Amino acid sequence: MRLTPAQIASFVRCPRLYSWQKEPPLSVFDKLSDSKEGKILFESIKRAHKYTAYENKVYPWKYLRGYIGRTIAADYNTNDYKELEACKKKIEKTVDYVQEWYQRYYLDDPVGGLPDIEAVQDIEGTSIFGKLPLVLAEGAPALVMVNSVSPKYWKVFLKDDLESRIYLAFATKYFDTPVERIIMYRYFGEGVSRTDFSVSDGNKSVFLILKDVFSAIKLDFSYPIRTESCKLCRYKDVCKI
Ligand code: SF4
Repeated sequence: MRLTPAQIASFVRCPRLYSWQKEPPLSVFDKLSDSKEGKILFESIKRAHKYTAYENKVYPWKYLRGYIGRTIAADYNTNDYKELEACKKKIEKTVDYVQEWYQRYYLDDPVGGLPDIEAVQDIEGTSIFGKLPLVLAEGAPALVMVNSVSPKYWKVFLKDDLESRIYLAFATKYFDTPVERIIMYRYFGEGVSRTDFSVSDGNKSVFLILKDVFSAIKLDFSYPIRTESCKLCRYKDVCKI
């Protein structure tokens, strides 16, 4: 079995959510779309920090602007007037998010990053794999994460967030020194905000917790767990509990 930290965290949050993510019901899945803006923002952050790390220079805004335009335009038929207009709006909105991050945060502290370090950890026959999105903040390694959860719900996700703790444990193993800091960019509504937080006990018990989680996953549970995060769940319309 191979799992990403996000899949493991999803199982702990709600086994039904995990089982549906493996095989999403088509009628619901059709309605869903993962946030393109979030993915582009995250990719932009990685590109800029990676460039700074290798070139020792600030990543030019025009490169990011071009990347955003090309990525979004690939999803539209720009020969069609209506699609072209929709494409322009989407580009404009995404450029706003990324530009806000670029001007407010990156230009203020254009540190080099070490994004996309592959990490694999085997625990009792299960492989956990993920890419570590790392930057050096104030000289120390920190994880960068991007999330679209609004501040209203953020505390629900932050509390005991297993995904972040798994990444911190991976990073700690990689650097052979405790990595405790997470830089979280959140985009929602009209803007991007940044929160720094530390999970100082993040590495102590996470691999022990994972052993229990893997045993439960192997039993194929799919019971629902109603929590505050149900309000944000993509399956809430069909989840009858
Ligand atoms: S709505 Fe709640 S209980 Fe149902 S799948 Fe989503 S998270 Fe689980």
